[in-house]
Amino acid sequence: MSYEVKGVVALSKGAPVTIETIIVPDPGPGEAVVDVQACGVCHTDLHYREGGINDEFPFLLGHEAAGVVSAVGEGVTNVAVGDYVVLNWRAVCGECRACTKGKPWYCFNTHNAAQKMTLADGTELSPALGIGAFAEKTLVHSGQCTKVDPAAKPTAAGLLGCGVMAGVGAAINTGGVGRGDSVAVFGCGGVGDAAIAGSRLAGAGTIIAVDIDDKKLEWAKGMGATHTVNSAETDPVEAIKALTGGFGVDVAIDAVGHPAVYEQAFNARDLAGTVVLVGVPNPASKIELPLLEVFGRGGALKSSWYGDCLPSRDFPMLIDLYLQGRFDLDAFVSETIGLEDVEAAFDKMHAGDVLRSVVVFEGAEK
Ligand SMILES: [Zn+2]
Ligand SMILES: [Zn+2]
Repeated sequence: MSYEVKGVVALSKGAPVTIETIIVPDPGPGEAVVDVQACGVCHTDLHYREGGINDEFPFLLGHEAAGVVSAVGEGVTNVAVGDYVVLNWRAVCGECRACTKGKPWYCFNTHNAAQKMTLADGTELSPALGIGAFAEKTLVHSGQCTKVDPAAKPTAAGLLGCGVMAGVGAAINTGGVGRGDSVAVFGCGGVGDAAIAGSRLAGAGTIIAVDIDDKKLEWAKGMGATHTVNSAETDPVEAIKALTGGFGVDVAIDAVGHPAVYEQAFNARDLAGTVVLVGVPNPASKIELPLLEVFGRGGALKSSWYGDCLPSRDFPMLIDLYLQGRFDLDAFVSETIGLEDVEAAFDKMHAGDVLRSVVVFEGAEK
């Protein structure tokens, strides 16, 4: 048996996305079918549509999602029908060299469903980040399902599946932000704002938001920034030093991924500080840094992939903090939309008008 549902598909490079009929097979061994309740619109979906990730069109887009497991395949023990889950793109394998070293948050061999979802004519779809959740149902590997408290709204919970986790994790996992630390976050979109919220959660003392857009700096204040710097008007390195006794910050997070911004982050950190790159660079980008400064400043230059998260550890923890009112996931939801509004949401995201547009599926509103 299989299911026939509607889904948002990028059929060819650069073309506007369309709603297509998707055939979702019954789950095979190790797989699960999830009834998607909400799915956020992420920059990565747009990158897929633009052919910026790979050429394996058509793509079934959407990957920041929460929903309910509606069927499981043979041998699935981590989730059962009816479980409320957030989907992840780090289904740890337990066997690769990262996992066997006890560092599963770096897993190099994460699992996706073995079967393919298809268009009605049988054309195989490439699900975005192995998920494909702009659809009423999606087929994933059961390890991609992380159970969380069903009291959490799907619009908020789903965001943990990608951008918010990347930002929070860049601060608390990769950057190791701790109580009293000073932090600067460059770029105050969804990921940067999540890094700010994560820094606040971790107890950072000074949190400096840097952006070229005053509207985004206002959002950042709402997430926990104690100071803001408009880097179109002011040299951010000087401004950050002025705010930290002349020294720079303990942790500088680049949520843009542009060489000039990375250089600012590098120069804005204190001796023995940490730079975290979480913004995704353009493939052509290169950086040039004085090697003596790299050596002489000590500390660490780190990259954060998916916030170095371990979904089974981090998703339920962040959902609990959300339900306790200590982590405002709802603040990331700028608007809720329907499947047919995804293309318009790309435009708003590209223009910087929204933090997150979230597709809500019928009957899912809580
Ligand atoms: Zn692994
Ligand atoms: Zn994403």
